[in-house]
Amino acid sequence: MDFGATWIGVGQDEMYALCKEYNVSTFAQPEEGKSVQMLCGTRGEYSGFIPPMSYLGLIDTELAIRKCDAIAQTIDLKEPWNSEMAEYYDSVTVEQFIDQQIWTQDCKATLTMAVKTLYCKEPSEISALSFFFLVHSGTNMKILCEIKEGAQQDRIVGGSSTLPKAIYNQLKDKAKWVLGEPVDKIQILPNEEQLVQVYGRSGKQYTARKCVVAVPPALAARIQWDPLLDATRDSLLSRSSAGSIHKCIFRYKTKWWVAKGLSGVVVSDHGPLSYIVDHSMKLPDGSEFIGLVGFCVGKDSIEIRNLPLEERKKRMLQHIEKAFESKEAWNMTEFYEHDWASEEFSRGCYMGNLPPGIMTQHAEHCDYMRLPWGNVYFAATEFSTIWSGYMEGAVRSGYAVAQEILKKPQPNPLPLIGKEFGCPLELNPPKVKNLKRAKKPSSSSGFWVALLVAAVAGLAYWKYQS
Ligand SMILES: Cc1cc2nc3c(=O)[nH]c(=O)nc-3n(C[C@H](O)[C@H](O)[C@H](O)COP(=O)(O)OP(=O)(O)OC[C@H]3O[C@@H](n4cnc5c(N)ncnc54)[C@H](O)[C@@H]3O)c2cc1C
Repeated sequence: MDFGATWIGVGQDEMYALCKEYNVSTFAQPEEGKSVQMLCGTRGEYSGFIPPMSYLGLIDTELAIRKCDAIAQTIDLKEPWNSEMAEYYDSVTVEQFIDQQIWTQDCKATLTMAVKTLYCKEPSEISALSFFFLVHSGTNMKILCEIKEGAQQDRIVGGSSTLPKAIYNQLKDKAKWVLGEPVDKIQILPNEEQLVQVYGRSGKQYTARKCVVAVPPALAARIQWDPLLDATRDSLLSRSSAGSIHKCIFRYKTKWWVAKGLSGVVVSDHGPLSYIVDHSMKLPDGSEFIGLVGFCVGKDSIEIRNLPLEERKKRMLQHIEKAFESKEAWNMTEFYEHDWASEEFSRGCYMGNLPPGIMTQHAEHCDYMRLPWGNVYFAATEFSTIWSGYMEGAVRSGYAVAQEILKKPQPNPLPLIGKEFGCPLELNPPKVKNLKRAKKPSSSSGFWVALLVAAVAGLAYWKYQS
């Protein structure tokens, strides 16, 4: 059913390669028909990437996308905190950036909705530096947001869990597996080999020469560590917070939206559902699941959390009815929802990120988050430079850690607590380059204003002529 990660798309080569290697098929996300937008109090149907809006809004949006892509390209993927203008972009939220750089309400609403859906957080809590890193890491804005030729292009037959299950089936006899055992404590034993003792919740203990902690950063910080993680690493891991989502699936008997010429895609600047998309698929028994999936994200997810289930459902169905202008919305046969922030082993989604100011404040030590702690290694999508926040990033991070362990199979030295930085001495802290103490970029140069005026005049002339 895919309550979690669903799509793979353009540039996610390792995911496609794994699907091929393990004989797992993919299919294209259905997208035939028009999309619906509900922005700035209006409803409209449209084809293409950018929802319909005023001419000024269209120009503004096109320029905003170019601007975001251009800034994103300046962000160093390995050390975003050392990028040109890093300090400035980390000092403003995405909301402030939008307010300063975007002129029209249409464009503001569109960008706000896109960022909120990408993060499951409000733009007011996201560092602009973190946002531009995400854009660069996922190639560009269009690829991040698009279905066809974008990150939402394909789905895995049988759901995304088919892939890890296929990998497990091939490897299950080649290794000892312990599944369903939460880890509460990790201890690095004070012996010569620096063996790692892992304490399961069942009371069982496991000893290893090397240990990979492949959980979101904030959850790594919640594990009990002996010796204690150094303060800098702990402060970074624990401040990496994920957003909120109620991912909801609505099952129907027919694709009634297709009969209306609609693709199922709805983008909205108000809750409860910021994004709706067709979730239909073939089931393993050959039957077809027909339905829509809705993303209730950020403050909308927080707002509905404590409402009774029936009330949550009612609000969502009202939203679907309004979006598709159809009472068919209420003919839903089944409803499923997953609140990821309430999930003990996720505590939010889609990925953790650092709030404004934290990356550059810790610039000299930011890399500690992903460096080994003695014989303990850290892997997670958050630590990937490419497609960070996505399944692709998780796979790449896993490969990077595996390579590191294979390169250096001998024990790592004991993680002593350093006097100067409160970090392991032997990690050779990455040297900070000269931080660019950048100034705020100009929001509207004369060139853009002139271009805008010329474009509006051109459009008005063309409209008048036709
Ligand atoms: C609703 C939703 C939609 C998403 N959509 C997409 C999408 O369409 N495409 C995409 O590419 N990505 C998507 N993502 C993001 C994607 O799921 C993540 O990027 C990816 O799963 C990260 O992998 P990971 O291995 O780093 O961490 P996780 O997938 O979080 O894996 C960590 C594992 O560790 C376990 N764990 C946690 N704590 C402990 C503990 N103490 N002891 C033992 N085990 C523990 C967890 O149960 C989990 O199995 C989505 C995520 C969500 C939540």
